[in-house]
Amino acid sequence: MTDLEEIKRRRTFAIISHPDAGKTTLTEKLLLYGGAIHLAGSVKARKTSRYAVSDWMEIEKQRGISVTSSVLQFDYNGCRINILDTPGHADFSEDTYRTLMAVDSAVMVIDVAKGVEAQTKKLFKVCSDRGIPIFTFVNKIDHFGKNPFDLMADIEEVLGIRSCPMNWPIGINGSYTGIYDRENEMCHIFIKDNAHGTKKLNVISGKIDDENIKANISEEILQSLKDDLELLDEAGDPFDLEKVKNGTLTPMFFGSAMTNFGVQPFLEKFLELAPSPQERTVSEGKVLPTSPEFSAFVFKIQANMDPKHHDRIAFIRICSGIFEKGVSVLHRQSGKMIRLSQPQQFLATERTTVEKAYPGDIIGIFDTGELGVGDTICEKKHPVTFIDFPVFPPELFARISPSSSMKRKQFLRGISQLAQEGAIQVYTQPYVMESFIIGAVGQLQFEVMKYRLENEYSVTVNIEPLPYTVARWTLQDVKPEELTGIDNAMVVRDRKEKTVYLLPNEWQAGWLVQRNPEVTFLDTPPRL
Ligand code: GDP
Repeated sequence: MTDLEEIKRRRTFAIISHPDAGKTTLTEKLLLYGGAIHLAGSVKARKTSRYAVSDWMEIEKQRGISVTSSVLQFDYNGCRINILDTPGHADFSEDTYRTLMAVDSAVMVIDVAKGVEAQTKKLFKVCSDRGIPIFTFVNKIDHFGKNPFDLMADIEEVLGIRSCPMNWPIGINGSYTGIYDRENEMCHIFIKDNAHGTKKLNVISGKIDDENIKANISEEILQSLKDDLELLDEAGDPFDLEKVKNGTLTPMFFGSAMTNFGVQPFLEKFLELAPSPQERTVSEGKVLPTSPEFSAFVFKIQANMDPKHHDRIAFIRICSGIFEKGVSVLHRQSGKMIRLSQPQQFLATERTTVEKAYPGDIIGIFDTGELGVGDTICEKKHPVTFIDFPVFPPELFARISPSSSMKRKQFLRGISQLAQEGAIQVYTQPYVMESFIIGAVGQLQFEVMKYRLENEYSVTVNIEPLPYTVARWTLQDVKPEELTGIDNAMVVRDRKEKTVYLLPNEWQAGWLVQRNPEVTFLDTPPRL
């Protein structure tokens, strides 16, 4: 296979949903159909074994939420699939948003009974702001649910996007027996088995008036299917690939991840329509997936995947060039060269060392503490900087200190590693050695921090909230004493030694800006 063919066959996407809509189950079933696992259930099993090695995920278990992201790779119908799993909880959205920067399309899972929910809406917005194609999978059609037409209206009303059903459920409200493929005008009736979704389903297929189809569905269901299809043809939006590509039309599929109804038709059509790796914006212009020079960015750092070794893995998305094991690349932010000697790829159930990887692929590299989330790695001869990576302004601040001064060393190590991982923002105050100021987007980040410091670094900490809600950086290098109106600000320094002003509210921040017209203030750290 040529390099170009390798790039073209890649599909890198995330599955987004409100918690409980069925994202984990669908991921598991895509793996089942992809042949990556023989018995569905491995994703859950993998999650469980990870709990065992990484105790901080207790939090996830206790709260029933998913706070970590993972990457899965497998082949299907000639495509190389990279699925980026995203955590579903609202408080942890910072991590999710970053993951979404690394994909070329997204699958939005909606619960047929609940329609579009709060978290779906937020995640959808991140994808649509980036203009990436979104595919809709309406899940749990084995169950009672809303009328499919109402769901289409719901998607349009709440998300502001038109939908185009690629298939349509056969049957009504909880008694679905199959789906109708609109493009090929074929009925697929699923044969129920006793495998409870652990095996691929058997299907009877045929035209709507074929005897074998008529024999398997009641006349009433057949008639209502015909009526629905007629209405769809008349009033629905025609399929338009251009609109899908620019994110103004979402192809809609119906199915049930748990029972495997509709999973295979969805997977096949999705792979056909979903884009291969796309071009990316860098401060120097554009990077095409077909450019020969290697470039990638870090979208996630995860420390202590194996707490015995305290290893840190930086997940990078390759955007251009072919990656080969052992290459030396430029870390753009530090200007240092790093040799990627032990790159890891995450296959369905295990990690393996990767010899070669292409644009669209996600690989994990061991990080010695140099890399940060959002950083670029590229060829020295052809330096680029990825810029469309979101940095979130922190809104909650607290002072953190170790409960015992005996644990200072572990405390420092833990704080600095978690800061680099992007789990939290850490600031120092001049002349204050015993404590740090931490900033976060959501309260859960503080709790996870406390938990991880206790469990991974054996330090108990005190976290004391501070009355600030806004942070400001300056574009120019100005000293605090050169500014007027900072009486109510707390002056701290970030990881890169930049001065940051923490203020009680937006109004005070506006005042500071007004009083110093010659200075440019920023709500996130200045970029390289
Ligand atoms: P996630 O939070 O979005 O990852 O959701 P899960 O995949 O963990 O599923 C949430 C719950 O919905 C679980 O109890 C699943 O067994 C159930 N579920 C998932 N898919 C289906 C489905 O197609 N039909 C029904 N009835 N339940 C489902």
